[in-house]
Amino acid sequence: MIQKTQAVVLKTFNLRETSKIAVFYSQEFGKIKGLLKGIRADAKKFATNLELTSLNELIFYRKYRSDLHLVSQCDLKEDFPSIREDLKKSLAANYCLELINSIMPLEDRNEEVFKLLVLFLKDLSALTEIEKLIYLFQVKILSISGFKPHLDSCVVCNKKIEKDARFSHNLGGLVCSDCAFKDRNSQTVLMGTTASILHIEKSTWAEALRLGISFGIRQELNSILNQFLTFHLERPLKTLRFYSKTFFKAPQRNLL
Ligand SMILES: [Zn+2]
Repeated sequence: MIQKTQAVVLKTFNLRETSKIAVFYSQEFGKIKGLLKGIRADAKKFATNLELTSLNELIFYRKYRSDLHLVSQCDLKEDFPSIREDLKKSLAANYCLELINSIMPLEDRNEEVFKLLVLFLKDLSALTEIEKLIYLFQVKILSISGFKPHLDSCVVCNKKIEKDARFSHNLGGLVCSDCAFKDRNSQTVLMGTTASILHIEKSTWAEALRLGISFGIRQELNSILNQFLTFHLERPLKTLRFYSKTFFKAPQRNLL
């Protein structure tokens, strides 16, 4: 069956001498894998160079017995050159592409994820607040994909937490001081950090972008969100190491 959709390139790899396989996140079909026959032999065969992060319009033959679909047309719509020209922006983008590729199952339509990805890439291309965009993306993707941490109350006893909150990756959220013994690896967390995460979850993307985040909260967001994601993913993300080196080790150079 012939299908048409818009899709962002998450990953590509070469197949034999002349072809490529691309993993896309598409508007209509979620994450899909497409075969672009002959794209490396004839640069003009497709109106795209399949750059990572690029938004393309695809026409493909959808197979029902295989998850690899034959792409007959792929036209570039938007290639976000300012992301590729900036090392930090491209690290941030590659990290978020790998995150989506890792969290989202194949062929599971979720238009919210597609919209989130396109919003993120547009803003990453235009704005300089790279760290904040990553936090927003992490919180939103956790929320959409059902991995949302439990932050409204203690995850064990459900009591409202007024002070001395700790965050437990193992238990999936906040624990109060009475329940902290349930996870010896839980870490203290500022109320401002959990409030920021809850605010980002509940707000629209544009509203969340206006949130001011202090230095201390930024450091906690970095550590909590990355550890929480790593704990819930089957394998660590390859891009996390490069991303952390750039954004963790020198936070003072990239103030929000
Ligand atoms: Zn408790």
